[in-house]
Amino acid sequence: MIKERFDAIVVGAGPSGNAAAYTMAKEGLKVLQLERGEYSGSKNVQGAILYANALEKIIPDFRDDAPLERHVIEQRLWTMDDTSYVGMHYRSQDFNEERPNRYTIIRAQFDKWFSRKVREAGAVLLCETTVQELLRDSRGKVIGVRTDRGDGTVFADVVVLAEGVNGLIGQRSGLRAEVRTDSVALAVKEMHFLPREVIESRFNLKGNEGVVIEAMGTITAGMTGTAFLYTNQESISVGIGCIVADFEGSGQTPYGLLEAFKNHPSIKPLLENSECKEYAAHLIPEGGYNAMPELYGDGWIVVGDAGQFVNAVHREGSNLAMTTGRLAGETIVWLKRRKEIASKANLSEYRRRLDETFVMKDLKKYKNIPAFLHGTRQVFGVYPQLLSRAAQTWFRVDGTDKLSKEKEILKSFRKARTMPGLIGDAFKLVRAWR
Ligand SMILES: Cc1cc2nc3c(=O)[nH]c(=O)nc-3n(C[C@H](O)[C@H](O)[C@H](O)COP(=O)(O)OP(=O)(O)OC[C@H]3O[C@@H](n4cnc5c(N)ncnc54)[C@H](O)[C@@H]3O)c2cc1C
Repeated sequence: MIKERFDAIVVGAGPSGNAAAYTMAKEGLKVLQLERGEYSGSKNVQGAILYANALEKIIPDFRDDAPLERHVIEQRLWTMDDTSYVGMHYRSQDFNEERPNRYTIIRAQFDKWFSRKVREAGAVLLCETTVQELLRDSRGKVIGVRTDRGDGTVFADVVVLAEGVNGLIGQRSGLRAEVRTDSVALAVKEMHFLPREVIESRFNLKGNEGVVIEAMGTITAGMTGTAFLYTNQESISVGIGCIVADFEGSGQTPYGLLEAFKNHPSIKPLLENSECKEYAAHLIPEGGYNAMPELYGDGWIVVGDAGQFVNAVHREGSNLAMTTGRLAGETIVWLKRRKEIASKANLSEYRRRLDETFVMKDLKKYKNIPAFLHGTRQVFGVYPQLLSRAAQTWFRVDGTDKLSKEKEILKSFRKARTMPGLIGDAFKLVRAWR
């Protein structure tokens, strides 16, 4: 394959791999990036919201030429039952700032752009190249990779595993356990095309302003999951995902849930007359802090989805991927400058740096949320229904006095979930949230 030895090999060209490769190549390291897809982004799926802050720390002037769709000025959070939603909307003119904070993007275009930056920084990218296993020396230190190319071995001081959620190389090499079905969500997503002006009038937008909707409730048929709808310039991304273990024996399919979501009376008018041109499915690691594998060892380091770096509560993944990729890259550059080897002890600097960022702080904060959501199914069925009924009782003007309405709402809560049940769920939520 390639005879020269590299400072680092990066497996994968998603946001985490690109961030790592860019960070190291920019500082003059010899970097080889291997991607099994035809091009960077060809295999990747995301909603997608891009959180600017993480990318700004890597490419400060990314807004000059990155393919951005709309900047988000309005966030809608919906709790849905079969006919209604109870929502919280936050819209602010302040989000029309000079350097907006969140954008919708289309991953295939965005990843291609990021990959160009990586190559311009000096990294070598080989696409259509699947890494099959890690190579080790007699002491067990990782010294390179074997790929599916003819003479497919290539050597480096350190291998960055940015291979995404399945982490197959890590698994095959005994660095991590198989991903558990209760720690990953299976998400499906469609792209619906509409003229720009239709999107702007439907969502009350001007120019490149955008709206995003995150939804939960009976739309996931009692399973742990959420749905989304994001506005792009001339398309709408719509999707839904649930924990894989929940699908087993449920009789539900991801596509069936998406169809039902698209046909919900609150969603259907937003997609009316659109043309669906793309369909994709992908896993999302949602096990959080407690599901994290080992993050580094002798000659290897894990970044992005491969390390379960997703904050499912806040729907953040790509920013954690880019931040972990950058920190891994910076750690490797730091070791190189000090002429130190990529031993397990030295790479522990990566973990030290990670612990100081929002990535670990947030994942630690929410470490009990996945178990709470999985163990409290009422969140995805009974509570959305109760909320909706309460709102309807409250808003309907029908000659009933307000005190009686309050009593009726309280009674419906007690009947559906008993007082100890309600208090218990609230207590568990507060404990998991802290
Ligand atoms: C439906 C959906 C919606 C989402 N929405 C959002 C959102 O709105 N905002 C957000 O921040 N995050 C979102 N996420 C999460 C986000 O997409 C991920 O966190 C992010 O893509 C992780 O980046 P990564 O580089 O670690 O992995 P990936 O993007 O999965 O990239 C891994 C790369 O490695 C390559 N690869 C794998 N194995 C090999 C191998 N053996 N050899 C060579 N190459 C290999 C793959 O082809 C791929 O290109 C969403 C995810 C999904 C599925």
